[in-house]
Amino acid sequence: MSSLEERSLDNLADMTLNVMRQNLLEVASVIRKKMDVEGPQAVKSAFEGAKSRFLEGAFKDHIEVRWGMSLCPLCNDENVDKNGIAYADASGDGVEFNQCLNCRIGILYKLVIAKATMEHYVIGLGEMDQFAGMSFFWDAIFPDEMSQFQPMYEIISEGQWMGTVSFDESMIPSFLSFKNMKDYTSRGSPEFWTSEISSEIKLAIDEFIKAARDQIEVALAIR
Ligand SMILES: [Zn+2]
Repeated sequence: MSSLEERSLDNLADMTLNVMRQNLLEVASVIRKKMDVEGPQAVKSAFEGAKSRFLEGAFKDHIEVRWGMSLCPLCNDENVDKNGIAYADASGDGVEFNQCLNCRIGILYKLVIAKATMEHYVIGLGEMDQFAGMSFFWDAIFPDEMSQFQPMYEIISEGQWMGTVSFDESMIPSFLSFKNMKDYTSRGSPEFWTSEISSEIKLAIDEFIKAARDQIEVALAIR
């Protein structure tokens, strides 16, 4: 297998979305270096192409399903975990965090009665629980209304969805807590995001920035 450096940006973007490497932060660092040479626009196009190939390929049958993730779209295994329903209404419908514990990808499905529609596709970065005991997932695919918050990362602690963190160009975090994801709130509305972050979550975010700086810089550049 050729080294990561020898691969094209298209190939590295495909590799990221399909989780074809265990260490995706390493892949991000290679992309970060290539970005200096080929420019952010080239990286952006690579990810846009990879996203189309991904959504039209094996993932196609997982965009709309019944109940949510039962088989992982990547590994086809049942080793899946559900980490909480946000924006839940009285009937219990809402946005559910589904994750494959093998591939460490997640899908945020909007559940309406039994119909689950993909809202976000997220990819685990680093090891499970690596950041002060918490896991971080990069929002690689998300609804248009969320574009203003790019880049976004979903945080899971002890199997529970804690919330979403977004970084500005100075890498200052703002946080949308799971507790604020109520059925009367809107995910795309900035008023529910805050820079007041609990010390536990802040510690995890600081550790994540330290380990994932290259990945965040790439994600910022392709907004
Ligand atoms: Zn899987």
